[in-house]
Amino acid sequence: MNKQEESKYFEMLDKKNKNRKKSARCIFTGCEKHSIGSHSISKNSHIKNIAENGEVMSFCPIRQGENKELLLKKVGINQASVFHGFCKEHDQLFQGIDINGICTYKDLFLQCYRSVCYWLHMLTVDGSTMGELQKYTDDVMRGFFKRIIPSFDFDAFRFDKEYEENKVDFVKTIRELKTLLETQIECINDDRKIDNSVLVQIGDVEILFRKVEEVIPVVLNTMNTIATGEDNVFQIVLPNKMDTDIIVINASHKRVVLLDTWKVATSNMLNIIELIESWMISNEIWYIQPSVIEKIPEVRLKIICEDIRYWQGEHKLWEVYDMSIFDDLRQKYFKIYKDNDNLDDEYEEKERQKFIPQKRLNKEQREKNMRRLMGKLQYYGDFRDMTKE
Ligand SMILES: [Zn+2]
Repeated sequence: MNKQEESKYFEMLDKKNKNRKKSARCIFTGCEKHSIGSHSISKNSHIKNIAENGEVMSFCPIRQGENKELLLKKVGINQASVFHGFCKEHDQLFQGIDINGICTYKDLFLQCYRSVCYWLHMLTVDGSTMGELQKYTDDVMRGFFKRIIPSFDFDAFRFDKEYEENKVDFVKTIRELKTLLETQIECINDDRKIDNSVLVQIGDVEILFRKVEEVIPVVLNTMNTIATGEDNVFQIVLPNKMDTDIIVINASHKRVVLLDTWKVATSNMLNIIELIESWMISNEIWYIQPSVIEKIPEVRLKIICEDIRYWQGEHKLWEVYDMSIFDDLRQKYFKIYKDNDNLDDEYEEKERQKFIPQKRLNKEQREKNMRRLMGKLQYYGDFRDMTKE
């Protein structure tokens, strides 16, 4: 395959992937109906609160041949966070949230379920596309070896003991989590009002909830997988009219570590801003108030846009981001804490540094490192059962 054919092949895969995402069946167990496009985060209760002229800003993937870039663009609130996960009937499950936001324990579980379903849907489709790509690559290699060393058993080499020991099914644990939450929302009718700070344990999974008395102008629904591919953490930020709900679904084996970080990170507003920025830079599934981005100086914004592609592979989960995204909010609380004499010199200096563009490795080097990491994930990813037409 020459460069042009290769580029066409990737475009074809991309198109197929997009179509698969839109023509799915309802994700609710046992339901066979066609899904409709619906929000994974409520438009009325949350997205609307941070929109300007009916729009929010988000990163959109743009493909050019083999390369994918993420570009910041304005999106209408009717499109923001939409996915084809549920049929019309099952989308009604979330009616309460769409009217009143997160008020009860049941609302909390429903939002967790909705967010996990978003990721399950997206990753299942991506998994089938990855499977197709993997199959194609293996076929090419098989053919290549057959021509030059006919006696070489490519499959014994490719799917050897090491592969069997290291292979990862990226979707299995998310599917299990979805089932766990589905059982929870079906059997519990918990209309108890939720407190401002809550920790709920369901089986092995921990749900952390925190309401803060400030509108943080981002709607966020991200997922991160820790090294092994089986430890998942979901982060959700839901701005209301007067305050913001923050949710973490901790389905990882690093519960204690995350809980400790969570306690420190939610102890004051500057830490909360920092925590949410660290989530934003590790995953692009968020929608922000356009004026927040428009206020960031060009040089810093350029680095932020580049980091969105590389930061996650270069840093640990929830590692503090070294530059500011929410400038106004940070300055507001910086002033409040300073006026109250609540900032030590070291912290103050650290906060100041966040407004200065920070140094990075050159882009080629970062791209190379990321590709190496992605190649490894692709090699050990077990997508064989997920490939379907
Ligand atoms: Zn359904």
